[in-house]
Amino acid sequence: MRVKGHGEFMALALEQSTQVLPSCLPNPPVGCVLVRSSVVVATGFTQAPGRHHAEAMALQSTPGSLHDVIAYVTLEPCSFYGRTPSCAVSLISRSIGHVVVAMHDPDSRNNGRGIALLKAAGVTVTEGVLGKEVSAFLTPYLNLGLK
Ligand SMILES: [Zn+2]
Repeated sequence: MRVKGHGEFMALALEQSTQVLPSCLPNPPVGCVLVRSSVVVATGFTQAPGRHHAEAMALQSTPGSLHDVIAYVTLEPCSFYGRTPSCAVSLISRSIGHVVVAMHDPDSRNNGRGIALLKAAGVTVTEGVLGKEVSAFLTPYLNLGLK
């Protein structure tokens, strides 16, 4: 059996994110897939403001340490505590092993800080996977309002 690559799991995350419009607005439609040993163990998508971000939804359904899990997220995890706790901090607190991100979050409150937090905690971060496709879908929804 051929093992799926980063691009295919990111495509699944993108697929997750396309189903949340318009209920997530003004939060951007973000998708997340958690993968252990090439098997999807959880999926998540951003919900209405004040409710779960994509990462939080996926983490909630996956108990225990995630040191052997790769998280595929279409947008850089948030670094700030807005209406919900920071997803970057949540991923770190669950000992996530590897985070694959499609695109940077241009939000001035984040803008690389989410990725920096993960790296500083020793998490492997891979950026730009399926970046063009995700950006084409997601960019129109960024900076629409507070998260
Ligand atoms: Zn978040």
